[in-house]
Amino acid sequence: MRTDTQPVRCGNCGSDAHYTILVHADELEPPDLDTRPGEPLRSSLPFWIKRCASCGYCADEIDRVHEEAGPVIESPIYQAQLSDARFPEKANEFICYALILERVGQYADAGWTAMHAAWVCDDSSSQEAASLCRQMAVRSWTAGKRQGQAFHETHESEFLIVSDVHRRLGEFEHALTACNLGAEGEDLPDLLDHCFRLERSLISRKELGRGSLRDLPMFSGGSQAVGGAQ
Ligand SMILES: [Zn+2]
Repeated sequence: MRTDTQPVRCGNCGSDAHYTILVHADELEPPDLDTRPGEPLRSSLPFWIKRCASCGYCADEIDRVHEEAGPVIESPIYQAQLSDARFPEKANEFICYALILERVGQYADAGWTAMHAAWVCDDSSSQEAASLCRQMAVRSWTAGKRQGQAFHETHESEFLIVSDVHRRLGEFEHALTACNLGAEGEDLPDLLDHCFRLERSLISRKELGRGSLRDLPMFSGGSQAVGGAQ
């Protein structure tokens, strides 16, 4: 993982500050069923969000801001969320960004940003906080789907992700329903078919922890490069 410190001007209030920027991180391990990347990209999560110390604006790219974000950032709900004691600090930053994205109608991205908050909570073993974030993610994705916004590549992969989120929430019946709906399609790609089998086996064991694709036959037997990300 390579990082760099760079000066950035806040797109909302214009304050200048130095931020640690993620320059590059490979993904050498397979991802999780909920798409969380494998290491070392996995551990770069805290660098995926920045917070302006002056106005509290949180975003992945803080030098840019949606024209309708200003009132959200100034709102009491947003400002309180910045220091909500129920969540780790970084999770609050992701949640705040999700609040902005939701307000401007970018529901799919809002859902993913809430998922990033959930992963921060996972890393600090804050299970209750992680559950609240996963519920936010499902709410945003559901709102998005009503407006025709996809949050992943195919209906099937969306069902897999939603199934995994329900399982991590301990909602095993919902998890199984989503799993069955996603797996019933014909011509399911091999990888997705194996993912649904893994998901079903985790559900049957009432497993609440992460499900990793490293447990699939095509990945077992050692780490394997699955891609990279800037
Ligand atoms: Zn600012």
